[in-house]
Amino acid sequence: MPHAFDDRQSALPIRALIVEDEALSLETIRLLIGQHVSQVDTARSGEAAYTHLHATDYDIVLLDLTLPDASGHEIMRHLRERQPDAVVIVVSGNDSIESAIETLRAGAYDYLRKPYRAEELIKTLRNAVQKVKLRHDNRHYQHRLQQSEQLHRLLVNLSPDLIYTLDIEGRFTYLSDSIAHMLGYPGIELIGQHYSRIVHEEDLEKARYRVNERRKGDRATRGHELRFKRKEGLPVGPEDLPHVVAELNSMGLYRPRPDGSEELIGTYGVARDISARKQAEATINFQAYHDQLTGLPNRALFRDRLNQSLAQAKRQGHLLAVMFMDMDRFKLVNDTLGHLVGDRLLQAMSQRIRACLREADTLARIGGDEFMLLLPQIPNRESAAMIARKVLQALKSPFLIDGHELFVTMSIGIALFPDDGETMELLAKHADIALYHTKDKGRDGYHFFQQDLNASLNIRMKLETELRRGLQRREFEVYYQPQFAIASRRIVGMEALVRWRHPERGMVGPDEFIPIAEDTGLIAPLSEQVLQHVCQQARQWHEMGLPRVNLSINLSASQIEQSEFVERFTSTLQANRVPERMIGIEITESMLMRDMDGSIDKLRQLAGFGVEISIDDFGTGYSSLNYLKRLPIHTIKIDKSFVQDIHPNSEGTPIVAGIAAMSHGLKLNMVAEGVETEAQLNYLEQLGCQSCQGYFLSYPLDPKKATRLLALQTL
Ligand code: C2E
Ligand code: MG
Ligand code: MG
Repeated sequence: MPHAFDDRQSALPIRALIVEDEALSLETIRLLIGQHVSQVDTARSGEAAYTHLHATDYDIVLLDLTLPDASGHEIMRHLRERQPDAVVIVVSGNDSIESAIETLRAGAYDYLRKPYRAEELIKTLRNAVQKVKLRHDNRHYQHRLQQSEQLHRLLVNLSPDLIYTLDIEGRFTYLSDSIAHMLGYPGIELIGQHYSRIVHEEDLEKARYRVNERRKGDRATRGHELRFKRKEGLPVGPEDLPHVVAELNSMGLYRPRPDGSEELIGTYGVARDISARKQAEATINFQAYHDQLTGLPNRALFRDRLNQSLAQAKRQGHLLAVMFMDMDRFKLVNDTLGHLVGDRLLQAMSQRIRACLREADTLARIGGDEFMLLLPQIPNRESAAMIARKVLQALKSPFLIDGHELFVTMSIGIALFPDDGETMELLAKHADIALYHTKDKGRDGYHFFQQDLNASLNIRMKLETELRRGLQRREFEVYYQPQFAIASRRIVGMEALVRWRHPERGMVGPDEFIPIAEDTGLIAPLSEQVLQHVCQQARQWHEMGLPRVNLSINLSASQIEQSEFVERFTSTLQANRVPERMIGIEITESMLMRDMDGSIDKLRQLAGFGVEISIDDFGTGYSSLNYLKRLPIHTIKIDKSFVQDIHPNSEGTPIVAGIAAMSHGLKLNMVAEGVETEAQLNYLEQLGCQSCQGYFLSYPLDPKKATRLLALQTL
């Protein structure tokens, strides 16, 4: 492909016209000129001359002034008007000086007087050809220059970068077309305007030495970030920022002076739009510091903000609060309704919490259902409490997700700077301890950190270690508390109650260690050991031929929630060859409420296996008749707190009477717990309660004593 500025293009054809009526003369001239030009036309009359001149543009015209049919001067005039670039050489028989001067004045290039010598003609012709060639070359270079300039302009304008020049005062002298695309201005609008018109106000100071850079070479501006304003009133897309972030390269423009020094004439600059990259960076940044699901800040960002706020709180001496928040029983939602519902619940929940906060507060999601809240500046302790209450209150109304109405509660722990710690770690740890305390106290609430919580946490942790060791060393025993048929006073059942024979503390009751076992997951191995004990006991009593009684085992919520609970339970019974219908379970209402559908399913399977089901502590929970009808329940155990309200000579209690009537109606067996007096026993008997359990008739007994008592009954 030929280069755009190929030199061959300069060899333009030279065309000559000879107007001469004398044949010999004409031929001579033609021969001479023919060597130098590419085309020679001849005309022997004025008419022929005009015909040629109309058809062709000539570079050289040799014109005889004396023609038979036309005036040479006339033809010259024509040439001057129509082909002013033609080099005209006049040949004339008129030898007066005046004629020559007149001809030259009329625009002729040279004048030859007839008769002329050949050398004379040759010289004149050579000069003329030279002149034409020069002119052609000139034209060619001009054309090349034009093309080159066009190309450069095109290259500059094709570039997505904004290329500009400024004069020494900082006014635009040139702007490439990309200005329109980049900032929405037609370039012409800004020519002569000061650059500050397009620089973002906050960046003006930065721009001062950058946009109209005077330095050059290494010290010039390279890769400097700057914001430019888009033209006002321009429609911006949803993704568009009102400004453009650009990377600027600029340098001083200098002109050499004749003395070799240089004169500053302005600035040359290139600004590259990096808004898209900036936005992408911002997105990546956002993702690195935010939780994907809820869009809330994550742990890393929370740490950052807490650190900053702490520094500020220290300087300015104000209070700051850190809260640890943990959703109560979120796992249950996830396990029973699926992760999608769980996710949506977390999203909806975080929105509600956010709505309780101020702009400056930071709510972060730091784990599955764990959140942390930073209140960077609070006037007093009470204002932190107020926010906690506000959050708890906001969660009170149910969440509607996928057609499920979900009730959510939250446990909150609060630590304050500077009272509860001066470092990030300590504040977070203490808020966490306070949260533990809230969980301990029945969840759905908030507590501030207190030093003694720390102590109780230490006790707790010690207990956990001991619990593990106790399980390994099999320090757990099972006691049996008999249940009597009120009418016959015969033993009809035994409740299995776990005890811990602690090496230092002696016998420890379940209320002290079951909650910790539940929290730490140790409840599973513990229950396993209890079940083993009970199964072996049942088998032993059976083999001893003792009267058949029902042994009931207390279950904990997390136990039933285990997915393979039923299988594990029944296979243990089978493995120990426990006689049918000898072992039952006790569950509480609140355990059922945690996952009604899942529980129903499991309880049905157990009932199908011959396991009797009792509702423990009945009356203290929801006491809903509805679920009683849906569940395969055999027995309700009326809670001891109601039984203990029965006093001699009193009217009795309407609650116990009501429960008795209800269980009667539902044909359920009713056991009264915690019977401590004869009066209570009598009252219960009157109400038609079949069985009872309590200190009045028997304390929980160790296996030996329980065996003896059962054996007595055979007598
Ligand atoms: P619960 O199932 O309601 O057990 C009855 C509790 O009342 C027992 O306390 C028993 O000793 C006590 N009690 C019995 N008669 C009387 C009385 O006349 N007056 C009074 N004031 N109390 C009486 P204990 O053994 O301390 O058990 C406490 C709770 O621990 C049980 O309440 C049960 O929920 C739980 N628990 C016991 N053993 C286990 C177990 O093996 N696994 C699980 N998950 N929980 C257990
Ligand atoms: Mg019980
Ligand atoms: Mg009970």
